[in-house]
Amino acid sequence: MHGRTHERQIVADPAAAQSAARWRARDLEVLWHPCTQMREHPDILPLVPIERGDGAWLLGYDGRRYLDGVSSWWTNLHGHAEPRIAEAIARQARTLEQVILAGFSHAPAVELAERLLALAPRQAGRAPLARVFYADNGSAGVEVALKMAFHWFRNRGEPGRTKFVALENGYHGETLGALAVGDIPLYRRIYAPLLAEALFAPSPDAYLAAPGESAEACALRAADALADLFDRHPGEICALILEPRLQCAGGMRMHHPAYLRRVRELCDANGVFLIADEIATGFGRTGTMFACEQATLAGPGGQEGCVAPDLLCLSKGLTGGFLPLAAVLTTQSIYDGFLDDSRERAFLHSHSYTGNPLACAAALASLDIFGSDDVLVRNRATAARMAALAAPLAGHRHVADVRQAGMVVAFELTRDGARDTPFDAASRVGLHAYRAALARGVLLRPLGDVLYWMPPYCIDEAQLQLLASVTAEAIEEATACA
Ligand code: PMP
Repeated sequence: MHGRTHERQIVADPAAAQSAARWRARDLEVLWHPCTQMREHPDILPLVPIERGDGAWLLGYDGRRYLDGVSSWWTNLHGHAEPRIAEAIARQARTLEQVILAGFSHAPAVELAERLLALAPRQAGRAPLARVFYADNGSAGVEVALKMAFHWFRNRGEPGRTKFVALENGYHGETLGALAVGDIPLYRRIYAPLLAEALFAPSPDAYLAAPGESAEACALRAADALADLFDRHPGEICALILEPRLQCAGGMRMHHPAYLRRVRELCDANGVFLIADEIATGFGRTGTMFACEQATLAGPGGQEGCVAPDLLCLSKGLTGGFLPLAAVLTTQSIYDGFLDDSRERAFLHSHSYTGNPLACAAALASLDIFGSDDVLVRNRATAARMAALAAPLAGHRHVADVRQAGMVVAFELTRDGARDTPFDAASRVGLHAYRAALARGVLLRPLGDVLYWMPPYCIDEAQLQLLASVTAEAIEEATACA
């Protein structure tokens, strides 16, 4: 099934174009799309009705195929319509599609929890993550982690610990709690009056390094600022939340793993929980199963290990990109803090579809593929090809930075290739690049003026070459009119 698509005609036929136009018109009568100024549809912002997915391709009603360079909002891992995951969902749907998870249980939820805990980052000398709480999307997972951290201190008789620390340029979702710890003005500013106050620490972002400063020194400088912030708020902070290694929505900004090591120490020294939001970075995206693993840390006896958080948020790729599901992994000690005779001390948070069996079955099938297809090893080769194909663009006159973390490569576009000469926002270079790439059959979805590759792991050599050549052309076209 995956092979056949490659022979598909790229040139659209008139009947297909009409079919696409009909779907577009019907859509625009009834739908309200996410993250979109609807007024821009369809003239400024094209609207592409998709009929099918197949591996790294999205197949349009217009008879054209589009290479999914962003894994459909960073969710897809092994390819669209991956038959093994599709089959696992179908099998589960014929068996048990949904059951209330309060007072009831089911095998996929239990098995998935067991497997996630076995896979989770492990810090030598530290109690492992031992419990799984499910939710049904990334933002909901973040809400769960924030509420758990806050509630744990209440239960413990420390009601003064009400504040969250988050990082500048971080992103954790769109619900009000998640927005409160996010720092992307475009999403946050309008709702600011509604948001709980959070404390923001400088980002360890290596792109912000001073001239001549290494990524590690930049990260440690940010950690020093965090230490100061902790000092100024003794006994007030319940948790720090961050995206380890890679701030995705913030423009695919990357930081040195030394930051996470220092953060772990600082959180421990200050009695603050560390929440790792690996909703986007989890499941192999940055080269290791979880980004936390890159912050290696030897145990007290010299044992190997890495930084482990107190709460780990997972979603997006958790189901291979098939169904919405989130999991929050926590320590036994956090779990124990809710055991009591009082219902109010229990964690009563719930969503109707918590731990949905179909989503859990998809996640189990996705984890099977990691094993059977040796995905992490294969990704190393793919990431090396991505690096080689991206390298020539580093010299482009409008490219200020090319950076990579595993299966993510980002290109920072600026007016003259220097970091301090951003394009005027009004020139909308990112939008022009998006349209230029789409016209050539590639879905790139720039974040501001940052173009990035975040493809499904099954992307092949020919597709990688298409991605690279179209990116180069899109940069040319978009910057020519800026
Ligand atoms: N955290 C991170 C790091 C994310 O990238 C996202 C989604 N882009 C979220 C949380 C929110 O996930 P969702 O869109 O499923 O609510």
